[in-house]
Amino acid sequence: MDEPKAEPILVVQTVKALRAQISAWRRQGLKIALVPTMGALHAGHVSLTELAKANAERVIVSIFVNPAQFAPQEDFDRYPRTLEADRTLLEAAATTDLIFAPARGDMYPEGFAAKLLPGGPALGLETDARPHFFDGVATIVAKLLIQSWPDIAVFGEKDYQQLQVIRQMARDLNLPTRILGGPTKRELDGLALSSRNAYLTASERKVASSLNRIMRRTAQDTANGQDPKSACARAHADLLGAGFDAVDYVEVRDSETLSGALEEKRNWRILVAARLGATRLIDNMGVR
Ligand code: AMP
Repeated sequence: MDEPKAEPILVVQTVKALRAQISAWRRQGLKIALVPTMGALHAGHVSLTELAKANAERVIVSIFVNPAQFAPQEDFDRYPRTLEADRTLLEAAATTDLIFAPARGDMYPEGFAAKLLPGGPALGLETDARPHFFDGVATIVAKLLIQSWPDIAVFGEKDYQQLQVIRQMARDLNLPTRILGGPTKRELDGLALSSRNAYLTASERKVASSLNRIMRRTAQDTANGQDPKSACARAHADLLGAGFDAVDYVEVRDSETLSGALEEKRNWRILVAARLGATRLIDNMGVR
């Protein structure tokens, strides 16, 4: 039997065209979800579109490599840009109705001067290594939410601190969009799917598989009553022992506020960032 033919997905590049399509859907009373991405899509992103489609009638995937969230020494120029492959992947999944792929000049026209400076869950962890990262993320996500004004926006738990920053921003700014978090999609050995995994050499890829194993064991030890600080200190040493070049952090935090002041109620999350050659990997999981 023939495979069903994938429907071509409409790609729009301007805010004006995006809003025209959204207005048409609104007139039909359709519920709309947005899945913001930087492209180089993989099965993790597709799973977010599935969650979006389960909660809304129309799904928009935005694809924009946001310069404001890269530090000067980071990989903005070499970040993979694969719009045609992204579109093919989304067409095969049949969960996306529109791709919004704006040009840089549309998002940041000459003279652009606005910036959000999130505090709270944005402080520490990622910002210790990348001080302006969440300023860039919050600003672009706020723009995308205002441009599309969706009922729902879906983000991955893979970037757990980012998810909490966006949740808090939506609350603080009274944005009406409901923020949903989707579970992390992983390779068979537990490595979280990431567009940046493509940078890993074969030997780095082997080392990378220990990240999830060590994180999982540390979460288990903590859940079993081990002091989070000493469990994390052991994980730090084990990551270096497994071949990571540096460990930016291994921390158990409150899963909502990301504060390090842990209460006995055990609403905890372990978060990890470690470096392997030129690649920085992050991961996290609940402590139960
Ligand atoms: P990015 O890869 O930075 O373009 O991320 C776009 C969205 O996909 C973010 O909400 C990420 O948290 C999410 N995401 C990235 N990797 C995964 C994964 N392995 N599983 C689920 N969601 C993911």
